[in-house]
Amino acid sequence: MTAAGLAPYAANEFASRGRKYQEPRAAYRGEYQRDRDRIIHSTAFRRLVYKTQVFVNHEGDLYRTRLTHSLEVSQIGRSVAVALNLNEPLTEAICLAHDLGHTPFGHAGQDTLNACMRDYGGFEHNLQSLRVVDELEAKYADFPGLNLMFETREGILKHCSNRNARELGDVGERFLQRREAGLEAQIANIADAIAYNNHDVDDGFRAGLLSLDQLREQTLFETQYARVHSLYPELEDRRLIYEIIRRMIGTVVTDLIEETQRRLEEHRPGSIEDVRAAGKPLVSMSDEVYQQHVSLKRFLTRHLYGHEQKLEMTRKVQVMVKELFAAYSEDVQRMPPEFANAAASLDDAGRARVVADYIAGMTDRYAIAAHEDIAGC
Ligand code: MG
Repeated sequence: MTAAGLAPYAANEFASRGRKYQEPRAAYRGEYQRDRDRIIHSTAFRRLVYKTQVFVNHEGDLYRTRLTHSLEVSQIGRSVAVALNLNEPLTEAICLAHDLGHTPFGHAGQDTLNACMRDYGGFEHNLQSLRVVDELEAKYADFPGLNLMFETREGILKHCSNRNARELGDVGERFLQRREAGLEAQIANIADAIAYNNHDVDDGFRAGLLSLDQLREQTLFETQYARVHSLYPELEDRRLIYEIIRRMIGTVVTDLIEETQRRLEEHRPGSIEDVRAAGKPLVSMSDEVYQQHVSLKRFLTRHLYGHEQKLEMTRKVQVMVKELFAAYSEDVQRMPPEFANAAASLDDAGRARVVADYIAGMTDRYAIAAHEDIAGC
């Protein structure tokens, strides 16, 4: 059975690999709508509001947080899914869940926690997002985690080492067999990159870390700058930047939809299984726009994420996360009872994983307060 209005290669709940724990269907919601709702009601989702995207939560009220980032990813992803007759609720669910496993303090937090976990299997936020929805959310009486549909879980796990894939069972298989995820997962992945490239330009400019002259060296930006400037030569910077960014998003998203349509016509997949076996992702920008997108991403890495002011914050964060990890590893009783009890009977690796779960779940401000606590002892 195909859900009404969907392309034959869209994910389809009637042909899904389903949930790990069988549940009766909902009366008035589809299964992916239900996944989306479970994600929105999760504790990890609410914490995203106080987690860093690029700027630490206390650096200013107007910057993106992981929550607003996830919402922007979701609206881009949904637009693309609808335009291609793909499964919108599934795309939305994956987009909203993709950063649930992110540590406090963005990538600096994740890299430091990964270094702390080096001898115990490492830490990867993408894998942690899956761990949150599969195991760590403790809300339902009948199962651990959120018991999401296979396709939602498949989409959350964007990448994965072979070693981890072997331990993950069903969602790990595609990495070992070198198969692709469904189209909705592919959309969520690219929507993430489109969202952060654009909002980081906005936030970086607002923070005064990026200048108009610098940004104009980027083709994606300069093309739209020229267009907006010729239409509105007197426009003040704030509105100018916004008009440029909305056009940049529009250009990239339109290109993504049209290039993907072209690839779908070329490959003519008959089902999601054909998509998985296609040998390469079918959701893609054109080469030309992709090059411009990557160039902007590299520019942001160099000039925004690598800005001296950001690096100073990164160094502070590294110390905080390392000291938290050391303190909880040394005395698990410093953690709340549910973590302390879980860690008590485990070996070193198991204990380290519980400590990592606890730290990863923290918001920026909670981690700062917890560090003050520890440093004060
Ligand atoms: Mg993201």
